[in-house]
Amino acid sequence: PSIARGAVADVPSVLWDDIGGLTQVKRKLRQTVEWPIQHADALARLGLKPIRGVLLYGPPGCSKTTLVKAAAHAAKANLFSLSGAELHSMYVGEGEALLRETFRRARLVAPSIVFFDEADSVAARREGGNEQAAGGNSTGEKLLSTLLTEIDGLELAQGVLVLGATNRPWSIDGALMRPGRFDQILYVPPPDKEGRLEILKVHTRNMKVADDVDLSEIASITEYFTGAELAGLCSEAGMAALRENLYAESVHERHFSAALKSIKPSLTVTEIS
Ligand code: ATP
Repeated sequence: PSIARGAVADVPSVLWDDIGGLTQVKRKLRQTVEWPIQHADALARLGLKPIRGVLLYGPPGCSKTTLVKAAAHAAKANLFSLSGAELHSMYVGEGEALLRETFRRARLVAPSIVFFDEADSVAARREGGNEQAAGGNSTGEKLLSTLLTEIDGLELAQGVLVLGATNRPWSIDGALMRPGRFDQILYVPPPDKEGRLEILKVHTRNMKVADDVDLSEIASITEYFTGAELAGLCSEAGMAALRENLYAESVHERHFSAALKSIKPSLTVTEIS
């Protein structure tokens, strides 16, 4: 499913169970996203301040975006999705206007989540460590200062949460990491063997898979694969079966072996360890 761009909201249909592995990350997100929205009164009773923002970081293709969609679905929140890179490439003034409009609508139809993919593009660290929100004139600095103003303005709004995803957390400006902005930083790791098995199960659950396919064996030999690559592997195996025989009834081990030859993993040792 596509995410609505910019100021148009969407309630995604992704379920927590559509995401294999990542038990800890899912648990943490339930507490930080689902609870404050679904059980705002319980938090208020204990005098707890809801979290304003969560930053997810980790290698590409390991389900950061999918986690955000599942969190929005579970919290029954409207998801407003913005690409940091797209915002950054807009004309001066246009990106800021889109940001303000998105937050305005998000407040209007709360509970909402405003999600920034490639958050580092909209929140890039400012030169010389200048952390004055109003400072600077470049496109990037204006976007960042608008973003900070909007997030700070949420103090008065109920049920609007800011989520960000990035592969480069180190390039995010320090001002965004202060309490009341991205209060939570969550690492979304590449899948380990168990995680890979879970992901393979998710992506074969609607497939006719023959008895000779040993998913746990495939999980052990796909060490440097991301979730996205494992998903690709499953559909490529399905296509291999069809290419062999358009009337095929099921996908066999040989089709997975063929697919394994064409899909190369993108993770590196540093990302795994
Ligand atoms: P990027 O940084 O490139 O945007 P991402 O971390 O946001 O990547 P997603 O876009 O969420 O990753 O994942 C891409 C696809 O990979 C998903 O649509 C899904 O099919 C598959 N995928 C990734 N991780 C998992 C997982 N843990 N379980 C099931 N599917 C997964």
